[in-house]
Amino acid sequence: MTPVADTIAALATARGRAALAIVRLSGPKAIEITAACFRGKDLSTADSHTAHVGFMQTPDDEDIDQVVVTVFRAPRSVTGEDVVEISCHGGDFAPTLIQETLVHHGARLAEPGEFTQRAFLNGKMDLAQAEAVADLIHASSSRAHRVSLTHLQGRYSDWLGRLRDELLELCAFIELEQDFSEEDVEFADRDRLERLLDRADKLLSDLLDSYQLGELLRDGVRVVIGGRPNAGKSTLLNTLLGRDRAIVSATPGTTRDEIEADTEIEGIRFRFIDTAGLRETSDAIEAEGVRRAHRSIEHADILLYVYDLAEGLNAMETAFLEYVTARPDFKTILIGNKRDKVEAVHDPNFGSLSFVAISAKDGKHDVEALGDLIQLLLDSVAHGLSEADASPVVMNQRHRQHLHKALDAVRAARQALDTCLSGDMLTLDLRAALHELGAITGEITNEDVLDQIFSRFCIGK
Ligand code: GDP
Repeated sequence: MTPVADTIAALATARGRAALAIVRLSGPKAIEITAACFRGKDLSTADSHTAHVGFMQTPDDEDIDQVVVTVFRAPRSVTGEDVVEISCHGGDFAPTLIQETLVHHGARLAEPGEFTQRAFLNGKMDLAQAEAVADLIHASSSRAHRVSLTHLQGRYSDWLGRLRDELLELCAFIELEQDFSEEDVEFADRDRLERLLDRADKLLSDLLDSYQLGELLRDGVRVVIGGRPNAGKSTLLNTLLGRDRAIVSATPGTTRDEIEADTEIEGIRFRFIDTAGLRETSDAIEAEGVRRAHRSIEHADILLYVYDLAEGLNAMETAFLEYVTARPDFKTILIGNKRDKVEAVHDPNFGSLSFVAISAKDGKHDVEALGDLIQLLLDSVAHGLSEADASPVVMNQRHRQHLHKALDAVRAARQALDTCLSGDMLTLDLRAALHELGAITGEITNEDVLDQIFSRFCIGK
């Protein structure tokens, strides 16, 4: 690892008005540079993990702000280098002036993610943990936050590490056997090899399966509300959100453009998109809305198709529902609305489509039906959600690619074993799997990959 020579500085907190802001430095001159603009205790002799009250000053010795400076000496710091955190008052001026002064005394403004990158390079965390820092910051729901936190705490890395150890042990046995090949000794029991490879296959497959859930946790679930104009789509959206976000009107075609709104249910972020109604129309603006509705549906994770129970489904809707039923990748929930207007409810029975009858207008009172609908929503996305707390969930596209390649290599090794190929071939595949797992945690990496990963970070992280 090349030692990092320069000292970086950046605002670690969000810009703008706030009670406090933190400007952070990391590098061999972090303490020296801070000491040069600090009126207070002599920081050059300050112990690690100590806080000091004083004033930051401009190069002309004018006070900028009263601050608390906390000193962390290498290697006992977040980056493994000397680190100084300067807590000043928030707002537009003090943090900026302090940064400028630090730069004047020899610090360099940090690139996005540079603090975390240094932590990784200095062995303070592995690459998967470093990526979890960005995921944690970007988490938009409590479940996504929880998964990122477990990754940051290293649970996911530990789990991958155990899998690597098993494969490594396997490799070692086979290689040992090859070294003694003349003597016809078998160190690796074939049954055990098979069992280990099957186990690795299962673990990797489960992990890859978890990506679907991970993606939903990371990006939220897109739920498109479709249906004919006046079916009650906007009313349903308002009921689901518990506030009047969409305009509700008795004139068909009121929701001309899409309305999007977010809410969190059971720790998952749902983005509801209320579309213009699905119908043939000559009105140009509404026609555009209808076109968009079709497009939204194509990009939805779930479609809530709403129709008026009193009017039933027309021929166009029936054709549309037959189309979505035939597409197993489409999760559709059929909602018969305005239950209050009909005596009895008949499930139109569209194959596998879930059906719920509701009175969206009285949603707050129709608690049971609304509860059923929310349960259906959760069921359709949260397959495996209960297990998500116990086993790791992959949220990262890069990890997914490496896991795929690792699984391919494990399967190739299994095939090599079945067809009694030489130990050489077997270890080649096992080494390929190990390489892919190592790329996730950063044991094997290159500069381009690191640049790509850390550029996702915000400055100061
Ligand atoms: P959209 O065009 O599909 O978005 O439909 P709206 O949500 O604007 O509703 C159209 C009309 O149906 C409005 O007058 C709503 O008040 C009414 N409506 C919506 N839900 C219900 C319901 O559950 N029962 C009854 N009786 N009317 C409803």
